[in-house]
Amino acid sequence: MSEFDDDSLLMLSGIQHIAFCERQWALIHLEQQWNENVLTVEGHHLHEHCDDPYADKSRRDLLIMRSVPLVTRRLGLSGRADVVELYRVKEEKTECSISLESEKGWWNVVPVEYKRGRPKPDECDEVQLCAQNYALEEANNIHISRGYLYYGETRHRHEVIFSVPLRQKTEELALRMHELFKLGMTPAPVYKRSCKTCSLFNLCLPGIKSAYQDVNVYIERNLDIP
Ligand code: SF4
Repeated sequence: MSEFDDDSLLMLSGIQHIAFCERQWALIHLEQQWNENVLTVEGHHLHEHCDDPYADKSRRDLLIMRSVPLVTRRLGLSGRADVVELYRVKEEKTECSISLESEKGWWNVVPVEYKRGRPKPDECDEVQLCAQNYALEEANNIHISRGYLYYGETRHRHEVIFSVPLRQKTEELALRMHELFKLGMTPAPVYKRSCKTCSLFNLCLPGIKSAYQDVNVYIERNLDIP
């Protein structure tokens, strides 16, 4: 995958939208037609970490960085990480550790993304965390093997392993975002089970539009319209 320059960077958080539905991504990021739900959900989750019992701020071997700016030129995405945790490691440098000017020793880098709800049946949150991970790896020239998703509703952390399949999926989705952005194209709605949980359902009206498209296809086929 070639590297993207500053002018080609897209919003990193959009990768969760395109993983859920290409049309949802296009409505939000191409047409700016988001409804309040999207903004509300994404805005609120930023301070969910206040209640995270795992973020033990009293530990001397843990540093917590918040709202960390991120850029991955490999995926062509930029955004922010809710939290990046740094764990002091006793041994020598590892493949995922960095040194800090202000602190002694080596520190393992672990991205943590905070979500308002509960774990989802799909991998939308995992690919977003994985995209953040690409940026951290690139910036520090390290390899990070795992991160965490924290869900406010269950108050639980879930480990995410940055496996080869998850990395491949993340790269494919990023590439698709850039393809659609270049085309400036909003895909047609395809009504599916996940539409019921889509925050843009009322704006997209997939059932009605799909039926309307079906009628058009029927008319074109039966009236022999060129
Ligand atoms: S309602 Fe369905 S088709 Fe429309 S944007 Fe949402 S998930 Fe996509």
